[in-house]
Amino acid sequence: MADTESLLDEALQAIEEAADERSLDDLRVLYLGKKGSFTELLKGLGKLAPEDRPAAGESINLAKKQLQGAIEKRKLTLVAAALDAKLGAEKIDVTLPGRRQSAGGLHPITITTERIKKIFMAAGYDVAEGPEIEDEYHNFEALNIPEHHPARAMHDTFYVSPGTVLRTHTSPVQVHVMESGEAPFRMICPGRVYRCDSDLTHTPMFHQVEGLLIDENVSMADLKGTVVEFLRAFFEEDMPVRFRPSYFPFTEPSAEVDMGCVSCGGKGCRICSHTGWLEVMGCGMVHPRVLEMSGVDTNKYSGFAFGMGIERLAMLRYNVSDLRLYFENDVRFLRQFN
Ligand SMILES: [Zn+2]
Repeated sequence: MADTESLLDEALQAIEEAADERSLDDLRVLYLGKKGSFTELLKGLGKLAPEDRPAAGESINLAKKQLQGAIEKRKLTLVAAALDAKLGAEKIDVTLPGRRQSAGGLHPITITTERIKKIFMAAGYDVAEGPEIEDEYHNFEALNIPEHHPARAMHDTFYVSPGTVLRTHTSPVQVHVMESGEAPFRMICPGRVYRCDSDLTHTPMFHQVEGLLIDENVSMADLKGTVVEFLRAFFEEDMPVRFRPSYFPFTEPSAEVDMGCVSCGGKGCRICSHTGWLEVMGCGMVHPRVLEMSGVDTNKYSGFAFGMGIERLAMLRYNVSDLRLYFENDVRFLRQFN
């Protein structure tokens, strides 16, 4: 019993002095483990006289319990101290300025496309989409551009494989729409187009929006009204618009559309090459051959089509002088449109 008491005193003292959880655990093994001092004491009971054994055993068990309690208590103290030390070392200075999370924004080409869609949808147009990898029939033949037609050379086409191209314009979507539906049609199709061309004012990929209206008794006057109203709505300005005779294989008659320069108001400046006019789109009455090939009854229906470059409209609206800025992804440039 004296052994038990002195051992207990010694153990309690050591536990009280344990500096961290690890040395505390070492002490637990030393006193209470399989080969620990108290386990050895229990094993030694057999050497005592039988009548002394119960009392000795009880006091050893009591000492073990006391020891376990002391270890638990010391452990809680050590854990709390370790946490305090950690929090003290990792102090957070709440007065430091925060790191702001800046919000992203839409690309100016996306903003411009959405704006064009909104204006035409308000006028009852649907928005259609078509494949960017197109067969030659839809990109050329169905638009009255047969093989060896000089217009094919002007398109600088990317061929994916013989007979398959990256579409050079959004006009093939018109053909798909006319082939798969019944007149009347009223739709626009914005999208990416590809041409093997790259310089200050051309990029191999750019965006176009094509418009098509097919109905009974549609005339050139309807086309003019539509184009003028669109441009004035898009630029929010009452500028003059003029139509110059032109040529496209898929329209007859065809016209190029100029509008009064939005930068100088027609007086002449660098942007309009001192002419006072800006070329903004091509248009015309859909060629009867194009309608026939897509299965539209030309005795009943006629219509117009127009096409414009989205980058060009975005450059004029936002006063951007270099086309490449739209594709360089410099956030300092893009952030201005947020
Ligand atoms: Zn000008």
